Amino acid sequence: MPRKLLLLTVLASSIFAASAFAATPGNDPAALVKIRDTALASDWAYERLADMTDLIGPRLSGSAGEAAAIRQVADTMRKLGATVTLEPVKVPHWVRGVETGELVDYKGRPDGVSQRVVLTALGGSGATPASGLNAQVIVVRSFDELKARAAEVKGRIVLFDVAFDQFMADRGLAGPAYGQGSQYRTNGPRMAAQMGAVAALVRSVGGANYRIAHTGATRLDDNARIPAAAVSVEDAMLMSRLAARGPLAMHLTLTPQTHPDADSFNVIADFPGTDKPEEIVIVSGHLDSWDLGTGAHDDAAGVVGAMAVVDTLKKLNFRPRRTIRVIAWANEENGTRGARAYLESNKAKLETHIAAIESDNGAGRPFGMRMSVGAQAVKLFAPLQAVLQPMGASAFRREDVLGTGDLSGLEKAGVPSFAPLVDTSTYFHYHHTAADTFDKVDKEDLRRHVALMASTAWFLANMEEPIGRWSEPR
Ligand SMILES: [Zn+2]
Repeated sequence: MPRKLLLLTVLASSIFAASAFAATPGNDPAALVKIRDTALASDWAYERLADMTDLIGPRLSGSAGEAAAIRQVADTMRKLGATVTLEPVKVPHWVRGVETGELVDYKGRPDGVSQRVVLTALGGSGATPASGLNAQVIVVRSFDELKARAAEVKGRIVLFDVAFDQFMADRGLAGPAYGQGSQYRTNGPRMAAQMGAVAALVRSVGGANYRIAHTGATRLDDNARIPAAAVSVEDAMLMSRLAARGPLAMHLTLTPQTHPDADSFNVIADFPGTDKPEEIVIVSGHLDSWDLGTGAHDDAAGVVGAMAVVDTLKKLNFRPRRTIRVIAWANEENGTRGARAYLESNKAKLETHIAAIESDNGAGRPFGMRMSVGAQAVKLFAPLQAVLQPMGASAFRREDVLGTGDLSGLEKAGVPSFAPLVDTSTYFHYHHTAADTFDKVDKEDLRRHVALMASTAWFLANMEEPIGRWSEPR
């Protein structure tokens, strides 16, 4: 190569390097504004949400839908130029069967009448005989009442009739409302089984009463895997009223099957950092969903929101200093095996995990972020909050422990964790039901969601000062 040309080539490559550098503006407020506004103007995430929910549908662990979603997310992230790794995970493989309930006898029942109950098996439920079982129903409203009536439980179907507190949910306390309701779904059937119940039912944990059942995981012991189902709110109330009149008998048929563990994968897509590529900021949602609906809010919205972080930065030709790692977690709903596998394979690298974001509270309008950082780190987020304030998403709330489904292991190991603080007042209307479908997600809210996720991920990936492990003295 002639000397002059060589010089030109060197010059050109240094100009390219300089322009690549210019495309890494760090946490310059103007860059954060561009990220926010690019996300607010894009329906890329909404289109990916349609791909996942309309083309694939439900994605329960071990299902064909789950496998298809793994391929879809991996292909999409490869198209964006991310480095994709599929991390193998063994997941539970539970398959729903027939599920029917009928109130066959009660005081005052006219001859020839029985009443159908709307119900759905809980994940992990055992099975009745194929022809079902007949038993008397005992209705309780608390664990204390169950214990007080222990002598009545053997041979019976126990119904936990505990109302979801929509009043709390309407006022920003959907999380605690869900926690106090779902403890009966999670632990009630196991307690009833230990006391000799032949089956357990729970009132659906949700706030919109259109006679639909809300599924979810229940923790039964392997040696006492009784049939367990959620009944609609209306049917739980009916059963409660009938039981108050006198003995109530039910015919219950549930035929789910528990297969051997299946092969699955965490989808891990890295958008490499420029000068600190070994340092990781996770942005994530969970790939699996319950089987009744198409898991739009729970949690396709979280996955596409995380994927759209990379799409947004690609549109701007922005490269973060640290690596932004998009993860679509396997098996959050009925095992969190994906999160556990990641924790195990990264246990020697946790120090390089600077922060982790998971979106798993639906795509309601975002108000800001919940974060488990040390108190001394809160002030570092002021520039990010200033950029999010015009879209009403500047409420950054420090908590000791977020305890999200997939980040809790990383969080316990000291990785500062983040979760969008969103409007969840209607989230539990649809959560884990047949009605969690694409049409329930608001396009504008999803754009805001991406703006929050992308600007926060970017900010964390470029911070000068480390935010420190959350467990450091405050
Ligand atoms: Zn979820």
